[in-house]
Amino acid sequence: IEGLSPVISIEQKTTSRNPRSTVGTVTELSDFLRLLFARASRAYSYETGEAMVSYTDSKIISLINERFTGKRIAVLAPVVRSRKGHYRELFEQIIRMGFVRARVDGEIVEISGGYRLDRYKTHDVEIVIDRIRVAATAEARIAQSVETAMSHGKGTIAIIDLDSGELAYFSRQLMCPTTGIAYQEPEPNTFSFNSPKGACPHCDGLGTTKEVNLDKVMPDLQKTIRKGGLAPVGEYKKNWIFNQLEIIAMKYGFSLDTSVADIPKEALDIILNGTNEVMTIEHKAIGVTKEYKVNFEGVIHFIANQSKDAKSRTIQRWADDFMENVNCGTCGGARLRKESLHFKIVGQSISDVSTMSLLDFNNWIDSLPNHLNEKEWKIACEISKELKARTAFLLDVGLGYLNINRSARSLSGGEAQRIRLATQIGSQLVNVLYILDEPSIGLHQRDNARLIHSLKQLRDIGNSVIVVEHDKEMIETADHILDIGPRAGIHGGYVVAQGAIEDILKADTITADYLNGKRNVPTPATRRSPSGYINLYGATG
Ligand SMILES: [Zn+2]
Repeated sequence: IEGLSPVISIEQKTTSRNPRSTVGTVTELSDFLRLLFARASRAYSYETGEAMVSYTDSKIISLINERFTGKRIAVLAPVVRSRKGHYRELFEQIIRMGFVRARVDGEIVEISGGYRLDRYKTHDVEIVIDRIRVAATAEARIAQSVETAMSHGKGTIAIIDLDSGELAYFSRQLMCPTTGIAYQEPEPNTFSFNSPKGACPHCDGLGTTKEVNLDKVMPDLQKTIRKGGLAPVGEYKKNWIFNQLEIIAMKYGFSLDTSVADIPKEALDIILNGTNEVMTIEHKAIGVTKEYKVNFEGVIHFIANQSKDAKSRTIQRWADDFMENVNCGTCGGARLRKESLHFKIVGQSISDVSTMSLLDFNNWIDSLPNHLNEKEWKIACEISKELKARTAFLLDVGLGYLNINRSARSLSGGEAQRIRLATQIGSQLVNVLYILDEPSIGLHQRDNARLIHSLKQLRDIGNSVIVVEHDKEMIETADHILDIGPRAGIHGGYVVAQGAIEDILKADTITADYLNGKRNVPTPATRRSPSGYINLYGATG
């Protein structure tokens, strides 16, 4: 046999078990969206919400002249921002570079050898590069100082009015004009939760974290510790853990026979979160005081560590039984760093648009030319065409209710298949034989026509499409039909009719009888009454 086309089977299975795979990654929408945000978004400060600004050196110098003319200023190079440490070496280094003053936690000080700060407090340190009165005659010196400050401050400087204390930050990078926090120039990875550049550092870009569930640790507050009130340690055994628990109990005046609900709050906190202290306990009966070293990491840490680091899968599974996935507290499930979430287009962050339904997303793309300025639109135009095309294919196959962030794992077989179908239509391949298994499954009847339209598109650009299907509309639309029957399983398997729909209707087959209305699936005269209901809570869509 010659001239067979390459075959692509679009199956009905969920694309991926990978928790990082989403509708956006499968369809490439995420790639283009990240590109769009890297090129055409505006940055806002996560502290104040102001638009971030970036300047060239000459712009900075002219701004200094405008704002501080006639005033005595200091040119500062920020080197430490809200970080802990004593910074002895840093100050040594500053002295060696020839500077004698620094602004430490808002105050200008002279530094000398051995100068150091409280290592347990957070500090801000800026090197005082120069002190000048701003005037036209000083322009060259200001320019020189700004350049020096830029090199020490990694692209950011501060100017302080020495008399009024007024402070202003200027940066070559994107920077908040009030607080001086700076962002890196965005790149596509800034918006990827699969890249360390973009991923929320708390949940590593997963959007959820595994936390110990106290309801599972203490399932019955009326139980005592001895009888298994702390589920992870179980019922009383003679071992080290119960020994530690007994010491804590002695210290806080309860016993292993106290119900969990009645254990003092302070003691329960130690049991759950651990302690590392020497407990002094007086034994009334024998009149002596004894010291006990309690080095107990706490039930919560123990479970969390076992879940993360245990070598054995069995122990990990045991620990996971006491844990649950909760929305990440840092990013709120958005999976990205807060900086990344403060780049916006038409007021929306990439996370906002990724959680819109594809239908709304489509409208958002359409609104871009009205809201972007000319320069932004020039950049965004081509990228938005790509986004628009891919979204249109997804809408055509009836998936307008999904969103870009939707986890691919959570899609039904039919949805996953239609996404792959949309991707194939988008790929514009020709001379390919596509095979689809029941693509209408799970599809709302309303969207059937659009699905059929998509399949016709595939055909019209020069492909063959074979569909295994029971759907009447789909059968009626086919150019050529093979009716396999007459019945299911071992009672079938023969081609009982073939041809165009007219030929099928004329054939003496069960299928024809149904299509002609000679047979039908009767609606039952009476419906059985339900014996119970399943309640759905919080369901949407
Ligand atoms: Zn997070």
